[in-house]
Amino acid sequence: MSPFSVNESYTSQMTTERKANCRGCSGDSLQVVWKMPDCVYGDLFTKDLAVALQHKKHDLTLAICPDCELLQLLNETNIQTQYDDYLYQTKITFGLSEFYEDLSEKLSILFYEEKKSALDIGSNDGSFLKSLSEKGFDVLGIEPAKYPAAVANANGIETLREYFDSTLAKQIARERGNFDLVTINYALANVPNLTDVLLGAQMLLKEDGILNIVTGYHPDQFSINMFDYVGHDHLTYLTVSNLDRLGTRTGMKLIDVARVEHKGGSLVATFSKTISGRKKSNSVHQLLQREMWQNCNSAEFILNLKLRIEAQKNNLKNFITKHSIDTMTGIGASISTTYLSNYMEIDHLIENLFDDDRRKWQSFAPGSGVQVLPLESIQTARNEFSILLAWQHSNRISSRLKDLKFEGRLIIPLPFLREIYF
Ligand SMILES: [Zn+2]
Repeated sequence: MSPFSVNESYTSQMTTERKANCRGCSGDSLQVVWKMPDCVYGDLFTKDLAVALQHKKHDLTLAICPDCELLQLLNETNIQTQYDDYLYQTKITFGLSEFYEDLSEKLSILFYEEKKSALDIGSNDGSFLKSLSEKGFDVLGIEPAKYPAAVANANGIETLREYFDSTLAKQIARERGNFDLVTINYALANVPNLTDVLLGAQMLLKEDGILNIVTGYHPDQFSINMFDYVGHDHLTYLTVSNLDRLGTRTGMKLIDVARVEHKGGSLVATFSKTISGRKKSNSVHQLLQREMWQNCNSAEFILNLKLRIEAQKNNLKNFITKHSIDTMTGIGASISTTYLSNYMEIDHLIENLFDDDRRKWQSFAPGSGVQVLPLESIQTARNEFSILLAWQHSNRISSRLKDLKFEGRLIIPLPFLREIYF
């Protein structure tokens, strides 16, 4: 596959399976908290319009486990078709490279040895491992997606094209020994076998090794109404409380946590083996306390978000009616914009999508078949109204629109509906 093509081969083979048991504790009493409207898998932008229109909608229901309080999708779509041709590349996400550079710096000072080793699970194009390798780590990546794995290997970052689990962990430990550092960046929420992956990571650590996880932090994301982070790729929604519990179940202790701004709110969680002498930092207790104040490990927290999102959906609907909008321009073309426009029921109103990601240019959005064009050509859009579907980046995109001499009325749907005149 060429670097800038969008996959056209898979469509209707994707299926939804019922997940009967909790991904955290195997409990069998998952409680539905939010049945969102069925939606196509949001990332399937394709150059073939017929294919884009053929995509089936899949169930998207959030459920919580009353036993371990883990928020998760009730059903999962077939993961193989999602990841084999996964397009996302670390380098594309705004600001992520700098964040990984800082993170690798912080992690490298946790180890005194001259010679140290690191394994990254879901290593994507190897960007993060490259930073670690520059800080003296011998590195190995595990990445199931074909294209990013090939990019990493071509750049000299050894990457095994595999799905990670405890069986693979045993094999790697046998062949290559254990690691000082194991990392999982924005991949833990995507794995169906959550506890098995954590167990595998633990098995690969040296006695004094560290497992470092970066994951979306929905208590922060949901507090800014960022519900469109919920998609078929995110099977679990992890809190500090969940991670603390999962660590205990898999032979580890959660020793440090920090909230960071990426993706509307993320968490950096650090584990050591239970047997290690590393001490638990006060940050863990502080964030556990904050979660109790927020009541974010509860069904009520999610039901509350649902009410707020429904209110914003109504506001948008009323705005559209008041201004008799029958067509508008969409800004942003990504997995989350698919979920947002589907939820808000505005797909039929959007004439074109404009985005900076060149791999998406001339492709069609899954389900709606709306075509994606370069953001720099936004002046060709003739609609009075545009809607900023990538609302999370409103600050950066607004200044970009000014630079592009964009003219018109821009609707920003979230966290609260507002309008900007250009
Ligand atoms: Zn559970």
